[in-house]
Parts: sequence; C-alpha cells; structure tokens
Amino acid sequence: MQTIVTEVLVIGGGATGAGCLRDLAMRGIRAVLVEKGDMTHGTTGRYHGLVHSGGRYAVKDPQSAHECAVENKILRTIMPHCIEDTSGFFVATPWDDPSYGDTFLEGCRKTGVACEEISVAEALRREPALNPRISRAFEVNDASADSFLATDLNVLSAKHYGAQALPYHAVVDLIREGDRVVGAVVEDLSTGEHKRIEAAYVLNAAGAWAGKIAGMAGVKVTVVPGKGVMVAMNHRMVNTVINRCKMPADGDIIVPAHTVAVIGTTDRHVPDPDVYGIDPDEVALMMEEGAKLVPNFTSYRALRAWAGVRPLYKDQDVADDRDISRTYKLLDHSQRDGVEGLMSIVGGKWTTYRMMAEEAVDAIAKKLGNTQPCRTAGEILPHNQAGHFHRKGERLAQIERDDTYGDLICECELVTRGDVLASIQAGARNIDDIRRDTRLGMGPCQGGFCTFRAVALWEEQKAAQQAEGGSSSVSLSGALLRHFLQERWKGLTAVMWADQLRQARLDEIMYLDTLGVDLLPPGGENSQAGEGVVTKHAAIATEYDNA
Ligand SMILES: Cc1cc2nc3c(=O)[nH]c(=O)nc-3n(C[C@H](O)[C@H](O)[C@H](O)COP(=O)(O)OP(=O)(O)OC[C@H]3O[C@@H](n4cnc5c(N)ncnc54)[C@H](O)[C@@H]3O)c2cc1C
Repeated sequence: MQTIVTEVLVIGGGATGAGCLRDLAMRGIRAVLVEKGDMTHGTTGRYHGLVHSGGRYAVKDPQSAHECAVENKILRTIMPHCIEDTSGFFVATPWDDPSYGDTFLEGCRKTGVACEEISVAEALRREPALNPRISRAFEVNDASADSFLATDLNVLSAKHYGAQALPYHAVVDLIREGDRVVGAVVEDLSTGEHKRIEAAYVLNAAGAWAGKIAGMAGVKVTVVPGKGVMVAMNHRMVNTVINRCKMPADGDIIVPAHTVAVIGTTDRHVPDPDVYGIDPDEVALMMEEGAKLVPNFTSYRALRAWAGVRPLYKDQDVADDRDISRTYKLLDHSQRDGVEGLMSIVGGKWTTYRMMAEEAVDAIAKKLGNTQPCRTAGEILPHNQAGHFHRKGERLAQIERDDTYGDLICECELVTRGDVLASIQAGARNIDDIRRDTRLGMGPCQGGFCTFRAVALWEEQKAAQQAEGGSSSVSLSGALLRHFLQERWKGLTAVMWADQLRQARLDEIMYLDTLGVDLLPPGGENSQAGEGVVTKHAAIATEYDNA
C-alpha cells in the first residue's frame, strides 16, 4: 500500500476543506486534502449561491448573522472575481407582518449587519417584477457567488503554497493508535487502490458527513443532514437577491445567479446525507412562495430542481432543525473525547467558510508549534485562466472579439471548445466535472445540445493522448455520455411540465431514439475499470439517489 506522509490531512473538498488547505499551506504547514468526489461535490456545489449579508439570521440567530456580516466584507475583498454584487432586499409581502420590519432593523443594528429601509417605490423602480403589494423594503449587502470557482481558486492557491489535493479519494477508515488518530486509509476511486496517509493531525471538514468520519475514530459527532430543495428558473427576473422580511422559512429567497434565478429552499431532516430525494410538494411550495415575491414567477420555465444537505451541528435538543444555529463549531477531540490528533470543524455557512478555516488552522498550528499568523483575510485569491464570475455578457463579448462562434460547444452558457479543452487538460474526469468548471449543460436545454459535443471532444483528446501512449476506449465515452445525461435528467424529473417537459422530450428523442444511447455500455463499474471516469461507487456519482 502506498504511504503518503504529511503534517495535516484535511478531509472534505468543499468550501471549508479547501479554505483550511489554503490557510495551512499559507502558514507553511504541509497538508494533503482528500475528497471522495470532485471538489465541490458535496453541499458547496449544491447550495443557494448567496453571500449572506447576515440579514436572514439577524433576529433568530444573532451570532451567525454577525459572522456572516464580518465575512461578507472579507469575501468581497479576497474574491471579487467570484462574487456578483447584486445587493439584497428584504421585503414585506401581504403575507408578512409589516411590524416585523422594526424587529428586523433592530436585529441588524445589534449584529452589525448593514441595513437601510428604502421606499417601496424605490424597490419597485429597481426591481419592477417585484410584487407591487409589498408594504416595506430594506436593503442589505447580499450578493451572489460562484462556489465552484471560489473553491477551485482556494485549492489552486493552496497548491501554489505546496499543498496537495486528491479528488476522488474517499476516506474508508481513520487509523487510530491507542488514544491518537495518526492518519487515514483512503481509496483512490479511480483505481480501487488503497493508500495510507499518515499525519500529525487529521482535520475533519466533511460537512454533513462529518459525523460519519468522526465515527471512524469511535467519536460521536451529531450532524443533522438538513435537506434543502432549490429550483432554477430560466429567466433572471430580478437582479437583486430578494428575501421575505420575516422569520426564516421555506421558499423565501430568490437569488439571481448567472443567467437564471434560483428560488429556495426547504429544510427537512434526512437520515443519510447520501440518500435523499426531491418531493413534488417541495417543488410546488417553491413555485407558490416564489409567486408571492414575483407575481408572474410561475410563467417562467422551471429548468431544474436540486437539493443539498446542510451540515447542522447538533449539540443540544431542538424541536425543529431550523432552530439549530447556523453558526459553526470547532471540536478538538482531545479535549472533548480524549482522542488526540483529530479535530472536526462542523456547521456554518458557505459565507463563513474562511472564518471556520482560520479558527481550525489556528488551533492546529498551535499544536504543531507553528506561529505564522493567518493571512487569508487579506490575500486575494488567484485568477486562473477562467478565473472570474461567469457573466454571460463577458463571454459574449469575448466570443465576438475572438470570433469563436464556430467553436461553441454549449450555446446556452456560451462555453467554447477552448473552455472544454482547458477543463479536460486541468484534470476533469467526466462531463460533470467539466460542467462544474465551465457551466456546460446548465442552461435552458440542460445538456441536450452540448453533451454529445463535449463527449466527442473528450474522445478526440483521449485519442490524441492514446497516440502518445495513453489509453482510451469507446465504451468509456459511452459511459461518460450516459452518466452526464443521467445526472442532468435527475434534476429534470421534478420539473417536468409545460415547456420543460417539451424540452426533455426533445432531448429524449435525440439521445434515445436517434443516437440509441440506451444501447451503449452502461456507466457502471465494469465499463470504467481502471479509468476513473465516474467512480466505482454509485453513491458518489449521484446527485440524489431516490429521485
Ligand atoms: C439547500 C442549501 C442552501 C444553502 N444556501 C446557502 C447560501 O445561500 N449561502 C451560504 O452561505 N450557505 C448556504 N448553505 C450552507 C452551505 O452550503 C454549507 O454550509 C457549506 O457549503 C458547507 O461546506 P463544507 O465544505 O463544510 O461541506 P461540503 O461542501 O459538503 O464538503 C464536505 C465534503 O466532504 C466530502 N466527503 C464526505 N465523506 C468523505 C469521505 N469519506 N472521504 C472524502 N471526502 C468525503 C463530501 O463529498 C463533500 O464534498 C446552504 C446549504 C443548503 C443545504
């Protein structure tokens, strides 16, 4: 078994793990991160896309509100290229008690959340699609963010400082010697090979899976997987984040993200973060609540529904999961459970990932005798080739400048041949990885017209590599095609009505009736042996299992 020796092993390639890896590396601590899927495979790649101002929690969860307000300012400084400064409104609709606005203002004042009441006329002038019957409006510093890009750039920066990141590597066991965790056994899901990673400290940043990881060391950590459903509409009907001005509830935020608007979310406890579905009533609720904020909401096409699981840390009994604080907790298992060498960083928000990483790395650095200060609040994340928030207008301008219309692979999101090739060259292992890098397949046709082109490009690249001594196989491309289509179609099943049903039928005709994709070799374990296109484990490849 191959052995890797490092100072700190970080488990989890979401925002928190990537933030920890960067912070460790910037302080000169040797670190390796393992992630069982692609980076952002977990909740970070399935969240609502909001850089919280803190307003949402100003009344109910003041600590979390304050943390969000502090980090909101820092994120704008260190990753302006991952954030779209949309601003945010909290509005009182006819279903909301207008007097809550005063409680809200007071909560914002106490928690340091910048907030200003604006006139209803001003709110409607800036957002004409808003419900004209709103009675009050408040402006806050909400924004929209690209979590795929932000995580990638954290990892890129960490690598620059000498860290190592291993995607598609799952921790299958923690190695415990007496009362100390000394590393982990991981499985390389591409090859099935097991590796031993020895580390002075293991940092558990596995989000909703953190309880499972801690359990491998015999430590009990209760993380409640709180499932939330979101629906992307095909039109950006608002350009400002719109929140209902009331206590947090279901379907009360619309986030404009790239070319679409996303309504969310629900909060339902699921027994396992790997197994959950989307219930039709959750989607219906999103439509109903969306129409309270934007009256013609349901006249737009629902493109897709998906869900993520909140990593809610439960250290006390609460009746409702919404009552679990959104703040985070660093668990030093030597103090808490008498187990040395293991820490867990649990809970929190995407918005507070950097702060969480700072606290976790401060604690580990102290144990290691490292006195370097944290620099992540001041050092801007790097720009990579495509290192800016994907604004469609910018993409269009670039295509016009470079005259690359003929090179478009995904017309909906304006993804070019060059973008796809860059993603493959950067290590994408399947079309879903390319989607996370480029937004391919995320537009109105949901992969209908771009999937076969992307697979052809993949095949072309692999054939070129084969000519130089690499390996490739047609059955592999078939598996890639099937895998991506299945991933896209899972999100469509919940929104199959009207135009989206017609679109799905068109895609079905193209892929099943014309191209006979169902006759290709299945995307299972055997067809991918040794290639690592998807993974050997079905649970890793699925977005939600029982949909
Ligand atoms: C529906 C919903 C909407 C949300 N909206 C917002 C929002 O708008 N703004 C905001 O700030 N926050 C939001 N959040 C919260 C936010 O998304 C999460 O707090 C944050 O993304 C968690 O990041 P993380 O890195 O801690 O966890 P994750 O992103 O889940 O990362 C943990 C990683 O660990 C990996 N892992 C698990 N087991 C293993 C193993 N055995 N071996 C290796 N790797 C493993 C997983 O694959 C996963 O990628 C939302 C959450 C949900 C559910």
